[in-house]
Amino acid sequence: MSNFYEAEVLSVHHWTDRLFSFTTTREPSFRYQSGQFAMIGLDVEGKPLMRAYSMVSPHYEEQLEFLSIKVPDGPLTSHLQNIRIGDCILVGRKASGTLLSQNLLPGKHLYLLGTGTGLAPFMSIVRDPDIYEKFEKVILVHGCRQVDELAYQKRIAEDLPSDEFLGEIVAGRLVYYPTVTREPFENQGRIPDLLVSEHFYEKLGVPPLDVGTDRFMLCGSPAMLKDTVEVLETHGLTEGNMSRPGHYVIERAFVDK
Ligand SMILES: Cc1cc2nc3c(=O)[nH]c(=O)nc-3n(C[C@H](O)[C@H](O)[C@H](O)COP(=O)(O)OP(=O)(O)OC[C@H]3O[C@@H](n4cnc5c(N)ncnc54)[C@H](O)[C@@H]3O)c2cc1C
Repeated sequence: MSNFYEAEVLSVHHWTDRLFSFTTTREPSFRYQSGQFAMIGLDVEGKPLMRAYSMVSPHYEEQLEFLSIKVPDGPLTSHLQNIRIGDCILVGRKASGTLLSQNLLPGKHLYLLGTGTGLAPFMSIVRDPDIYEKFEKVILVHGCRQVDELAYQKRIAEDLPSDEFLGEIVAGRLVYYPTVTREPFENQGRIPDLLVSEHFYEKLGVPPLDVGTDRFMLCGSPAMLKDTVEVLETHGLTEGNMSRPGHYVIERAFVDK
């Protein structure tokens, strides 16, 4: 059996000239946990060209959803950005990743800190009822340069709270904090700076960072990860992994080449 299967594109949405998302069919045998990523790609010149992508869709959804950057001249995304309904993409059969609640010590507040397409794994986690069994509050912070890059705002802020099944579970428990760095907006600032700002916690309605209660999942650019980890470690938090749970876990949103 091949390591990949073909999934049919069901919808495509272009958020900006740098960002798009799409849904595909899902093979029932493809299993994953919310927060994980898989290799996806296209057949380019007769060879599979695959890249890591986080699933936006929670583990129980019938369809798969992905959020993608469009890298100018990017080997995969210069092709992928042209997909249309009815096209096929390749999906790897194995999912992996560290953004899993079992890699975290028990806590009260779960912070999901993402920049750019680093929002993708958190879209799946905030719609997973299991996460609300483990944490009293789930705080989703999405940082971008510009307001139009804040993908899925309506889905998080409006559709999710009024969802027939999830609405009751997330009510008063999911806090969404979109923030931008290069334009005026209701929230501004980089994630590492927010974490040391009193105003940030006041707006969220929670006490400031506390190693006893707060747990973190991070997914962003190498610079965001480096600076955020520095803040967390200064406050005494330690990284968790598959063999030893900790106060925070990280996943790269992409690798700088
Ligand atoms: C664990 C993991 C999960 C990932 N999940 C996603 C995802 O959900 N969505 C997604 O779009 N990408 C994701 N990526 C990045 C993805 O694997 C590819 O790098 C991306 O699709 C571009 O592919 P490419 O072949 O066009 O360009 P590449 O040759 O892969 O990348 C070229 C350059 O573009 C920049 N770049 C690549 N990806 C991004 C990005 N997402 N945001 C900003 N700059 C970027 C980097 O500087 C990189 O060096 C993930 C990467 C990792 C390691």
